[in-house]
Amino acid sequence: MPELPEVETIRRGLQRKIKNKQIKDIVVNVDKIVKKPYLGEFITKIKRKKIKEVGRRGKYIIIHLDSKDKLIVHLGMTGLLIYPYDNKITEKGINPKHNHLIFTFTDDTQLVFNDVRRFGKIFLISNIDEVESITKLGVEPLEDYFTEEVFIQVLNKKKKGKIKPFLMNQKFITGLGNIYANEVLYRSNIHPLRLISSLNKKEVRNLYQQIKLVLSEAVELQGSTVADEAYRDTDGDKGKFAKKLQVYARKGEPCIKCGHSIEVVRIEGRSSFICPQCQKL
Ligand SMILES: [Zn+2]
Repeated sequence: MPELPEVETIRRGLQRKIKNKQIKDIVVNVDKIVKKPYLGEFITKIKRKKIKEVGRRGKYIIIHLDSKDKLIVHLGMTGLLIYPYDNKITEKGINPKHNHLIFTFTDDTQLVFNDVRRFGKIFLISNIDEVESITKLGVEPLEDYFTEEVFIQVLNKKKKGKIKPFLMNQKFITGLGNIYANEVLYRSNIHPLRLISSLNKKEVRNLYQQIKLVLSEAVELQGSTVADEAYRDTDGDKGKFAKKLQVYARKGEPCIKCGHSIEVVRIEGRSSFICPQCQKL
């Protein structure tokens, strides 16, 4: 599932490539992806509009149009935005039968929303707050305002909670999912089930620094495509951060810090990869 680095990679690709392009036409093959407004209005309102800017909030991509409407895209589990789309893209393992929305610009290039699992969501709205889940998002970890003091304030909202579910809860910090929550905890030597109230100052500082570091390095390397996962950047290429993952998906392999083999524990239905020697409860 795309997390902050993957969504940010896609945002940057779109900002670079589709800014100022005008939408000539749109084909919607799977209606249920479009959540707001109803399909007829969605299509009418989007035709002939120009792309002004591509932003992001948490895992939502926000495409600002020159009509003041915003096209909001949530990629769900397997959503992709491919541009420029052409038939060669199938050679990169992207199956055209999952092309659910096809935007054609006035220069006849195409932007395709492809989504195998169909959990993606698209909205066309004038005010971002019309998407309720966006109004509930917490702080953006890569923004300058996310300082160690701010991190401590957010931690204090959930002192009795366990650290990994806290990191993955979008209401506190947005953008961390299972891959990056595992990575930052391992690199900080913190067991995922530690209570927030039990973390000492040094651990909090390490964790804060690792959140910034891991997420920004992952953005630099266009995110992570682990094994057969769907994620691709806008060119249809895999993210290169998977090679840098130190604990995620490394079950049974030796810990790079102490040599103990990496183990998996299930926490709230998700696989947590830990080194039991480096990350003690
Ligand atoms: Zn270890």
